[in-house]
Order: sequence, then structure tokens, then C-alpha cells
Amino acid sequence: MEEIPLAKRILDLPPYLFAEIDRAKASLRAEGKDIIDLGVGDPDLPTPEPIVRALARAAAEPANHRYPSYEGLLPFREAVARWYRRRFGVDLDPVTEVVSLIGSKEGIAHLPLAFLDPGDVGLYTDPGYPVYRVAILFAGGVPVSLPLREEVGFLPDLDAVPEETARRAKILYVNYPNNPTAATAEKTFFERVVAFARRYRVLVCHDAAYSEIAFDGYRPSSFLETEGAREVGIEFHSLSKTFNMTGWRIGFCVGNERAVGALGKVKTNIDSGLFQAIQYAGIEALERNGKVPEELSRIYQERRDLVVNGLRACGLDPFVPKATFYVWCPVPGKGDSRSFARSLLLNTGVVVTPGVGFGEHGEGYFRVSLTAAKDRLEEALYRIRKAEEVLSGASCRVP
Ligand SMILES: *Cc1c(COP(=O)(O)O)cnc(C)c1O
Repeated sequence: MEEIPLAKRILDLPPYLFAEIDRAKASLRAEGKDIIDLGVGDPDLPTPEPIVRALARAAAEPANHRYPSYEGLLPFREAVARWYRRRFGVDLDPVTEVVSLIGSKEGIAHLPLAFLDPGDVGLYTDPGYPVYRVAILFAGGVPVSLPLREEVGFLPDLDAVPEETARRAKILYVNYPNNPTAATAEKTFFERVVAFARRYRVLVCHDAAYSEIAFDGYRPSSFLETEGAREVGIEFHSLSKTFNMTGWRIGFCVGNERAVGALGKVKTNIDSGLFQAIQYAGIEALERNGKVPEELSRIYQERRDLVVNGLRACGLDPFVPKATFYVWCPVPGKGDSRSFARSLLLNTGVVVTPGVGFGEHGEGYFRVSLTAAKDRLEEALYRIRKAEEVLSGASCRVP
């Protein structure tokens, strides 16, 4: 029998850029090599005990074994609203302006279904979290990237969006503190975003996954603190990075009532909400574990200093992040990022992520994740420093 053809949206997916590195990683591991993986953005530290215990208690409760509500338990949404008030000074109506998500990726991926008709433009930043672009495509939209350039602090230049494109745009994804560049945005940037959104009637989808991981006393702001933001925007949050809960799948979307409601409508037709026991654990995290992200930030800051200094000692020139658990760094010798990552892996057993994996404007950079213990980071840096050939750029130039 002839194979049943796959849908175009699957066939059109970009090739998986990390396949080559994954293969090399697997074969080096099979040879018994010690691999230090600084590629993944997944916290190495465990979820704090009180949160795990809250899950265990709630999981034992039969009332939590049934279908949850689509929009999330009211007590969870109330905990989110209280957290927003404490953390950002933003008041939210827990009933109409908060919806729970099965991890923020779920909401980010479903949102375009509520706002894009075929042919509508969705704007997203490049380099960036790959979900934005694919989500726009899956909804039948036309993804248009806004480059993030080093010279302007990895912020998109909204004035450079052609008038015709801006008019066709319905949504705009932005993400600060940013993955992968670790750039941060000030309030004046968010003000420009609001002005753009108003002018062209575009929904702003701000991804704030890293708002709680920040250094040197810096406190990232919420997009919703900006005047007028609630009229044009929503914000995605996740407990994944804030409380080391990536495997639990819990996040939320807040802000513009119509948009939150429309995302909820998509979700009622696709999923059946978030396991209630996990929501109770989420309440425990938000209400009684406020010190956790501070403690994590302290740990990541130490690791950041180690990695930044270590890379400098290798003759590299990394950006010093004020937030996130990533260090973004130009590839030596202006080489291409995939060859650099490959030769680094083959020569040292250290995995970093080539910038081009986050979009064409990520080319020329690589990302180091700080999600490994200090002794492993030290070992990685020691090995990189010895890999002179890789560092000279000799083995990573474009052929
Ligand atoms: C990790 C991450 C997320 C989402 O994580 P979830 O686990 O789905 O909540 C969202 N955006 C960015 C930029 C991330 O790095």
C-alpha cells in the first residue's frame, strides 16, 4: 500500500537542526565519552519539597481525580492574581483575566488559533523560542520574523516593519528576559510595543517565562505594568523555570479579557484542563515559596560568573546576562554556529546550542545553558580552554 501522505503543515516543518548534534552526542556516549550537556534549557535542580508534598496530598484526594475545569480552579487563578499584585503591582480579575495552561508552551502554541485566519500575519522575534513561528504556521498564518540585533540590545525594531506587513499582522510574540539571547527589556521598550499594537490593532503576546530568574538585583517587569498594555496584550507565565517544574506542565496566561477568553475557548475544544492536584501544588508554589526563585537566581548568578569568566579566559566575548539561565556568545572567528558546536562537541564532549537553531539571525552565536552544577561547568570550561583549534575558529569556518 502506498503511504498515506502527511499534512503539509507537518511536511513543511523546518528540519530539526539539532539532529546532527544529537547523533554525535549519542555516538560519543556509546563510546563511553563523558558528555557535558550545556545545550538544554531544563533546570538540573529538583522541585522544592513543599511543592512535591502538596502534590502528594492533593493526588490522594479523590475529588481531584475527575476532569478539571477548563479555565483552571478558581483558587489557582486567585493565587495567580495575588502573585501578580505582590510581584508586579498589577491587579487581575481571576475569573476573566487568568487562564491556567498545561505549561506555557501549550498556551503559546494554541493562541494563534484564536486570532489568525489563513493569510493573516503573525510577527515573532528571531532568534527565538521556535514555538512562536510553528504556532503561527499551524494556524494557517504567515510568520514574519523581526530580527534581534546585537547593536540594538537584541530588541526588535518595530519601526522597520513595513506598513503593509504591520497592517496584515494580528499577533506579535515578544519575550523578555529573552531566550536565547538573555537580553532584557526596559519599560520604554514595552511602551513602544503598546504604541505599535494600538496603531495596527495587533495582539501582543509577551512570553515572561524567565521573569523570576534575574541577577545583580535586577527585577524584570511585567508587560502588563505598561500603560495601555491590558487593552492590547496578554502575558504567558510558567512555573517551569521559576520553581524547577518543567516536567509538571503548569503555566498560565493573563491580561486582556477578550484574548484570555478566546484562548480559553480554543482550549475547551482541545484539552480538558490541568490535573487539579498539580494546580494545588501550583498554589503552594505561588503562595508559600516566594523565596525559591531568589535562591535559584543566586545559584545561577554564581554559575553565570563562572561561565562568563571562563569563556573570557578562552578569548571569547560573551554577553553578561542580567536574567535567564543562558549565556549568549559570539562564535569565534565569525564561524558558523553549527560547525562550531559540532567541533566543540567532538573535541571536548561539551554540548552547546548553535544560535542558528533559534532562527537565521541567531547565526554567528552559541548559547550556553547554566543548568549544570559548578564542578561540571568548571570541567567544561577547562576542556574548552584546551581546545585551541576549535577556539581559533580554524575548524569552524564556513567551508
Ligand atoms: C521554557 C520556555 C517556555 C515554556 O515552558 P513551559 O514548560 O511550557 O511552561 C516558554 N518560553 C520560553 C522562551 C522558554 O524558554
